[in-house]
Amino acid sequence: EENRQKKMLKFSHITKVHPCFNEKIHDKVGRVHLPVAPRCNIACKFCRRSLGKEACEHRPGVALSVLKLEDVENYLNKVLKEIPNVKVVGIAGPGDSLFNKETFETLEIINEKFPDLIKCISTNGLLLNKYYKKLADLNVKTVTVTVNAIDPEILKDIIEWVYYDKKIHHGIEGAKILIENQIDGIKKAYDEGLIIKINTVLIPEINMEHVVDIAKELKDFAYMQNIIPLIPLYKMKHLRAPTCEEIKRVREECEKYLPQFRACGQCRADSAGLIKEKKILEDFFKEKNKEK
Ligand code: SF4
Ligand code: SF4
Ligand code: SF4
Repeated sequence: EENRQKKMLKFSHITKVHPCFNEKIHDKVGRVHLPVAPRCNIACKFCRRSLGKEACEHRPGVALSVLKLEDVENYLNKVLKEIPNVKVVGIAGPGDSLFNKETFETLEIINEKFPDLIKCISTNGLLLNKYYKKLADLNVKTVTVTVNAIDPEILKDIIEWVYYDKKIHHGIEGAKILIENQIDGIKKAYDEGLIIKINTVLIPEINMEHVVDIAKELKDFAYMQNIIPLIPLYKMKHLRAPTCEEIKRVREECEKYLPQFRACGQCRADSAGLIKEKKILEDFFKEKNKEK
């Protein structure tokens, strides 16, 4: 308990103003995503995607198109003009942020041109133990890591393969690598002063009774956990989403170990700010095409 309070205090200057880390201001402070990271290095069974192509779906939002580095500054200027009170800029895909060098180049652009924005990234964590220091050096404050299982027997049913060390690792072998790297990366990132949020997709038929083990394992390193319901898509089409009661029960169990974030609507297109973000990006590409 004492440990938890210390952690909360240490990070409060950031979490006070970050909408994904603070339910109280979730609807008041804006954040924008830059879709600069198209490729992914793992294959989640609920995610329709293909390696190397831009049609990579991450969470429910599919990025319209990938933003090029040379457009980052203009696009951000447009967003800041049109959406009030944007304080956070996030890189969350559409693939894995750490698997795309454009992510790091974008962070440099933000540091130079928009030094006041809080920088945030979301990742599957496979490469976090390689890049945590680089992220801290680039002045990233918050990192969201999606951890859906810490037992390879369970994770092997959630991901098909992991691309690591220039090889595709299927099944349990891939699951082991991902879990090891995630936990190692989270601990190192925490020691480096980064604020970690754990995202966990609740898949009733696969990880429902296991999610609490994730909270237990990471309680000393993560700041909070965000449990989100499975949206049954792609190779998980035949599985069911959790009921509200199930989500509530699992969050209550996990809360004994890790504070829970409950305001997250997974950035679905039904939230007003995000519809606006989508429209701004559409307009941006339209205007750009006209110039050509
Ligand atoms: Fe929020 Fe995740 Fe985006 Fe960061 S990367 S701003 S935590 S949605
Ligand atoms: Fe899709 Fe994200 Fe999983 Fe990659 S890490 S397969 S982008 S859900
Ligand atoms: Fe972040 Fe979730 Fe809010 Fe989207 S809905 S801004 S992912 S907390």
